[in-house]
Amino acid sequence: MERIEEAEDIVSLVLAPVSGPVAPHRTGQYVAIAVDLPDGSRQPRQYTISSGPRGDALRVTVKRVRGADGTPDGQVSTWLHEHAQPGTVLDVSQPSGDVILDDSDRPLVLVSAGIGITPIAAILEDLSRRSPGRTVRLFHADRAHDTHALYASLRRQVLAMDDARAQNWYTKDAEDAPTLHPALPGRMDLSEVDLPDGAMVFMCGPLAFMRDARATLMARGVPAELISYEVFGPDLWSHGSGSQAA
Ligand SMILES: Cc1cc2nc3c(=O)[nH]c(=O)nc-3n(C[C@H](O)[C@H](O)[C@H](O)COP(=O)(O)OP(=O)(O)OC[C@H]3O[C@@H](n4cnc5c(N)ncnc54)[C@H](O)[C@@H]3O)c2cc1C
Repeated sequence: MERIEEAEDIVSLVLAPVSGPVAPHRTGQYVAIAVDLPDGSRQPRQYTISSGPRGDALRVTVKRVRGADGTPDGQVSTWLHEHAQPGTVLDVSQPSGDVILDDSDRPLVLVSAGIGITPIAAILEDLSRRSPGRTVRLFHADRAHDTHALYASLRRQVLAMDDARAQNWYTKDAEDAPTLHPALPGRMDLSEVDLPDGAMVFMCGPLAFMRDARATLMARGVPAELISYEVFGPDLWSHGSGSQAA
């Protein structure tokens, strides 16, 4: 295992099998990682594979969940941050999940916030290798540039594509961020961004964030059936379309 400190409280783990080939996965899928906690319980949690299919390893990117207002720290994310080191053997499930990258050539709009960047990073890595001509617009919101996970690889992949553009919003120090396109301050606002005709939209982030983004996109004429999403927790979003392929 390789461990990469991505940003404050965000670590990537590059996982290779102890023996045999790495299990194949589709871009957008996740694995469950089970760990033995100090209280003796064994707890699994899902983590999106944040790399495209590579053949030799898969990367997950984990945000450390810190307790706030009296709530406890997240159990598994804290364990992984404190204990997962090169040489640690983890119990990792087969990849699964139905939210996968489609193989069409439709333009793609990718909308994310915070650690919701993980499936977006996988999609972009895959596209930059297999379909560098596909039109992609990335819209990402984060606290600040230095909390934006996987930024360096996203930047490389945007530059490797013919028609990919990224716009970031940061609530802190947006004006100083060394992004390709100047970052905007505050919360994401999709009301005036460039939306390629006929684009499919894929979103990942907190529910309230995705509800706002979806409402804005629909007000701009994006049909609901072209908007899909991934929720990092129980899917409490009851608008009917559910998680779908991007
Ligand atoms: C499909 C999918 C993909 C995902 N992909 C990623 C990813 O790529 N990267 C990533 O970082 N995460 C991802 N997640 C989230 C991940 O699975 C975990 O949910 C996350 O890491 C938190 O797990 P934890 O064990 O650290 O926290 P938990 O121990 O499960 O705690 C979760 C929250 O509950 C609160 N809590 C716990 N007990 C109590 C209590 N008694 N009272 C009040 N509050 C309490 C904690 O304070 C914490 O805020 C994904 C989830 C899904 C479903």
